Amino acid sequence: MTATRVELQGRQVTVAGLGVSGIPAAKVLRDLGADVTVVNDGDDERARAQAAELEALGIRVRLGDGATLPEGTELIVTTPGWRPDKPLFAAAAEAGVPVWGDVELAWRLRGPDAAPWLAVTGTNGKTTTVQMLASILRAAGLRTAAVGNIGVSLLDVVLGDEPYDVLAVELSSYQLHWAPSIRAHSAAILNIAPDHLDWHGSMEAYAADKGRIYEGNQVACVYNVADPATEALVREADVEEGARAIGFTLGSPRPSEFGVVDGILLDRAFVEDRQMNAQELAEVSDVNPPVPHNIANALAAAALARAFGVPPAAVRDGLRAFTPDAHRIAHVATVNDVAYVDDSKATNTHAAEASLAAYEPIVWIAGGLAKGATFDDLVTGVAKRLRGVVLIGAERALIREALARHAPEVPVVDLDRTDTGAMAAAVAAAAGLAQPGDTVLLAPACASMDMFANYNVRGDAFAQAVRDLPTAT
Ligand code: ADP
Repeated sequence: MTATRVELQGRQVTVAGLGVSGIPAAKVLRDLGADVTVVNDGDDERARAQAAELEALGIRVRLGDGATLPEGTELIVTTPGWRPDKPLFAAAAEAGVPVWGDVELAWRLRGPDAAPWLAVTGTNGKTTTVQMLASILRAAGLRTAAVGNIGVSLLDVVLGDEPYDVLAVELSSYQLHWAPSIRAHSAAILNIAPDHLDWHGSMEAYAADKGRIYEGNQVACVYNVADPATEALVREADVEEGARAIGFTLGSPRPSEFGVVDGILLDRAFVEDRQMNAQELAEVSDVNPPVPHNIANALAAAALARAFGVPPAAVRDGLRAFTPDAHRIAHVATVNDVAYVDDSKATNTHAAEASLAAYEPIVWIAGGLAKGATFDDLVTGVAKRLRGVVLIGAERALIREALARHAPEVPVVDLDRTDTGAMAAAVAAAAGLAQPGDTVLLAPACASMDMFANYNVRGDAFAQAVRDLPTAT
């Protein structure tokens, strides 16, 4: 089933949810001539203001009832955040009404000469990898953009006038769940660790939604050799004739893999005679920062770019030109021979594990909202690297108890604070525990909203506290 712009003319479309994706979707659908109703659970002042704006454009809005399917609905376009077990979707299934997310809608609205998609998903590293990929594609002289789950809306790009040769598309598991027909040129799954399980219902359902990214791939399905779940999803996918499984590894690459030997990133997939040959792409020191999980991100980006035919020199130039977004393993300062690193974006245990693996010895600042996570595996794995731990935030007891169980010898400062000013005290306590040569690492393994507006504000508070530290005389 392919919808064109014309086919939406006069169709009764229900948009599920006001908000960052619902409002633009409703406007686009209205512009395309659809008869649009927005349904929303909430009915507060903000929702009413948004509703008034949409109603002025001829869009119906029903506040305070996101559960009932409006009479005559032919299609639902949903905010990706809406959980699949909502009653609205049960009603849609019963009535045979299709449900599309914003990504599916964008895919269906592409023109005949639309740019192909190089798509990336994974529990962690998506934004970094997509930005590295866009940087590589730009270095190859291609017209591209990093889009999707990272600020630039796919709908804007697909409907805009700017021509693109190829798009670097970040897709979350939610978006993939609601995007049954997207078909990427090539796609990568970086890793799969438990996250958002409340939304998906189970680890199997979460992995299956991520696996959709490989469906219909034309050239390459890129997987993580160190994460067998990603390879299993390649095997299960129904791809185009000739599409290849391409692995990436921090070790030496086998044929059809990207890997690392003696500090050199190698392509042993898109080369002539891959049994015997490998192509040098870049040096590990070209990756910023050159820590293990980020080298993995660079290899995945390189694999997608090479699948698209980008020359090796552009991979190197693109990686060199890339700078990570703020709060992702950002070196803030070295004070009294102690390095202070801000990885406030490490909002789950899998991300924190990756950044803790990159340094030693570490004074670890952690805590916040755990989102149902447990910390035993994380603490067991990193215990040997820890000089000490400083705990902040609402659910810090979970980490404290895991430390007591698995690393009783590691000194812990439990600040017992959730006020915003606690970050300065945490940095001061960490400075007290650290010895010359150590790294103080903010990798909270938790969400920030108990203390801060978001992870950016948390990271900024850390950086400010580091700058305020007294230097040795
Ligand atoms: P996402 O868009 O998937 O949230 P980001 O690129 O924003 O990913 O990185 C988020 C955090 O995840 C980083 O701050 C880092 O702690 C961690 N991270 C990045 N890449 C990886 C990876 N390949 N494996 C594990 N953790 C990673």
